[in-house]
Amino acid sequence: MAHRPFLVRSGVRPLLVLWDVDYTLVAAGGVGRYLYEVVLAELYGTPMPAGLRSMAGRTDTSIALEVLAAAGVPDPFGELPRFQQRLADRAPELGSMVRTHGRILPGAAEAVAAVSALARQADGQRVVQSLLTGNIPALAKVKLGALGLTEHLDLSVGAYGDVSEVRADLVPVARQNAARRYGADFSGTAAVLIGDTPDDVEAATTTGARAVGVASGSFTMRQLHEAGAEVVLPDLSDTAAVIGAICAVEPAS
Ligand SMILES: [Mg+2]
Repeated sequence: MAHRPFLVRSGVRPLLVLWDVDYTLVAAGGVGRYLYEVVLAELYGTPMPAGLRSMAGRTDTSIALEVLAAAGVPDPFGELPRFQQRLADRAPELGSMVRTHGRILPGAAEAVAAVSALARQADGQRVVQSLLTGNIPALAKVKLGALGLTEHLDLSVGAYGDVSEVRADLVPVARQNAARRYGADFSGTAAVLIGDTPDDVEAATTTGARAVGVASGSFTMRQLHEAGAEVVLPDLSDTAAVIGAICAVEPAS
């Protein structure tokens, strides 16, 4: 689809665009689960336990605590730092696996590039683009880096799943990181989260941020609407619709 021009006003508040990773930007081909299997075997000599909850929308802290407990590791909270450090140490080795088994979801690269182009417009809105993801930083980096998606993102101001079991806790972290680096106020609706699960939507709505749902994961458009998303898209393939949703403006016709 050809890009239409966008109505982006100068003088409006800066905007912090926070992308979810899994099933929003990429399908990483199961490397997260594989990484857990590798580290469980290395540290405890145990396989991935059966009967785990779905990982969708959850943070790696939440997942790790469940996995450690289900695997019978004593003191999961006490073990968490060592376990997550080993996940981080091993994650960079997964690049070739991501390239082989993973893929960029339709329109994701174009959407990220289009947001970046907004940020470069003279007299346009100031836009900062990063991640709000349940992944620990090293895992997010290898998933997006292997697929060539990091160019337009400032990963240093994102918020990652090593911070909390609760996804909403990541929102103030990203706001503070971005405020410190860019000297701007990203409170309230100056932050917008784009994600594929009700957890993404609720992280935004409970912190006063805006939520854009994308039904490219395991949840339907209806479920994302019902969770409170302001706009829900089937996927990211309509770049004009994505930018319109993110900026809360209508594409020019
Ligand atoms: Mg996701």
